[in-house]
Amino acid sequence: MDIHKKIQDLREELNLHNHNYYVLDNATISDFEFDQKLKELQDLEAKHPEFFDENSPSQRVGGTITKNFQTVVHENRMYSLDNSYSKEDLQDWETKIQKVLGNVSLQYTCELKYDGASISITYENGKLSKAVTRGDGFQGDDVTNNIKTIKSIPLQLKGNFPSKFDIRGEIILPFEGFEKMNQELIDIGESPYSNPRNTASGSLKLQDSAEVAKRPLDCLLYFITGNNLPFDAQFKGLETARNWGFKVPTQSKLANNLDEVFEFINYWDIHRHDLPYETDGVVIKVNDFNHQNELGYTAKSPRWAIAYKFKSEQVTTTLNSISYQVGRTGAITPVANLEPVQLAGTIVKRASLHNADQIEKLDIRVGDEVFVEKGGEIIPKIIGVAKRGTEIEPTKYITHCPECQSELIRKEGEAQHYCPNFYGCPPQIIGRIQHYISRKAMDIEGLGGETVALLFNNGLVKDYSDLYELKVEDVIPLERMAQKSAENLVNGIEKSKEIPFERVLFALGIRYVGETVAKKLAKHYKTIDALSQASVMDLILVDEIGDRIAQSVIEFFENQENRIIIERLKSFGVQFEIIEKFNPNATVKLSGKTFVVSGVFEKFSRDDLKKAIEDNGGKVGSSISAKTDFVVAGDNMGPAKLEKANQLGISIISEDDFIQMINEN
Ligand code: AMP
Ligand code: ZN
Repeated sequence: MDIHKKIQDLREELNLHNHNYYVLDNATISDFEFDQKLKELQDLEAKHPEFFDENSPSQRVGGTITKNFQTVVHENRMYSLDNSYSKEDLQDWETKIQKVLGNVSLQYTCELKYDGASISITYENGKLSKAVTRGDGFQGDDVTNNIKTIKSIPLQLKGNFPSKFDIRGEIILPFEGFEKMNQELIDIGESPYSNPRNTASGSLKLQDSAEVAKRPLDCLLYFITGNNLPFDAQFKGLETARNWGFKVPTQSKLANNLDEVFEFINYWDIHRHDLPYETDGVVIKVNDFNHQNELGYTAKSPRWAIAYKFKSEQVTTTLNSISYQVGRTGAITPVANLEPVQLAGTIVKRASLHNADQIEKLDIRVGDEVFVEKGGEIIPKIIGVAKRGTEIEPTKYITHCPECQSELIRKEGEAQHYCPNFYGCPPQIIGRIQHYISRKAMDIEGLGGETVALLFNNGLVKDYSDLYELKVEDVIPLERMAQKSAENLVNGIEKSKEIPFERVLFALGIRYVGETVAKKLAKHYKTIDALSQASVMDLILVDEIGDRIAQSVIEFFENQENRIIIERLKSFGVQFEIIEKFNPNATVKLSGKTFVVSGVFEKFSRDDLKKAIEDNGGKVGSSISAKTDFVVAGDNMGPAKLEKANQLGISIISEDDFIQMINEN
């Protein structure tokens, strides 16, 4: 069979499924089948490096590191848009246009204004060749590698497209994905991102494209520029782009006059709240390209387009007081308690104030009339003072913890204040136990967050290890507890002793150690004892573990109280080791030897071969170096590898040689 054709077919098929799933929101195969096909492609590509294609769907997982983003001059400048805020503004705009065009009848394309980071993507012969940020409009940064990881952006177009063009769009982070990312941050004790727009634009400049690939980014496209475009008007351009495979929102509408534009605006002013992503207005574009050309550009923006900004939902109300919340990691969050007020369909009583700097910057004082706005965030925020109240002094930020009275600290370069009383501050203690029992951690059935607070307040637990000493008769007297629920609680705790080490490690609540990091560390160190003895140097050698995580792990284990708690948990039977499945075939025959595996094998899959090496005490290296002892070569071993192995004088053995090696006594 023709391997190249097989590879190309798989690429085409995967491109189609990506399009169905991410653009049309209409998957036609299961995730499992998709992953299988992707794996098949990855395997074939690994065996046949001669068929490498930088636009293969396998490249979407990312993995390239960009230390410095290259500056690129835009072939066609990226303009901004003039803004309008009222229907009169739009009427004035039409009058000006009509003066230039001589009172022709005009059609307008109405589109939503997506709130994210703008991007210009170049396609050559149907393949994505470059993606550049807006920058100052004249030149931006080359972020091609990062952009390719966004699954709704086609790497290969369909249909009849010009040989070269640029397409412009907005990189956005839909609410759902944004909230999920924030939940993950909260899980590791970090402060959440403030809004989807900044997070989307920050994502474009991440150095590791594999990190970008993990973020649920999306790209909505709205404009094509280039020569020989097969359409002569904006609305047709949108339809055409959609047919080529781009994600072009279908809400756009062709309006025959300003009244129809107003209808569109009125409709979306209300219904934008039902969209899965943030919009901050409508963009109105003169539809016909001949008209556009006649109108041209000002120094800053096209004369043929204008943005209409929705009035952000803003109200004023009185700031009654400021309270300070203490999180699980001791971070202090100031919260504004407001005179209840109606905003965007809900009654708002509280708003986030972020940190001390924010309060100082806005000079907010208790008793002020403040502006409250609801943007992309879940919690509304205060954006300024409308009218000063009676308070003559600026707000003094608290210096001591409201819960335990410890003096607060603020680390260099951090915006947040912290209560350092890790072991004595009630919300920190309760928060840690709540994290310990949570679903992704120990998943203790029959025990909820409120009960944890009750247990603590009644002196029954002071850290998570105390949970294991709870008895049914201890808990029955608590509010809303009965025999049955008390038994469930105790049984749930008992069952948590079966939770595997990696989740226990996550449950401990070490700062920056989220689910993924916990898995990595557990897999690498295998036991808590080994992990607790690791140095910073050891730790950062583990894949994906950086300085910050390493420091935090070290600090955690340096602490005497943590060590006592872990010893207690151990004595109760909580898992602190990876339980290796017993392998009757394991030997030490290959110990001290490093192998590199290359090519395709008859009797083993590559993974099985690697496993056989490790099972027999050998090590698997990823590339040939002076440290390599043997290269196990299959069919189609890459010529570069062969040459390198020969140069370094490394023994090249066959699959059968290898089998013989492990079968010798
Ligand atoms: P502004 O940043 O307020 O000057 O608005 C101009 C920006 O709006 C453009 O640079 C685009 O990034 C963005 N934008 C969002 N949606 C659209 C759209 N449908 N058409 C044109 N520009 C849009
Ligand atoms: Zn405290």
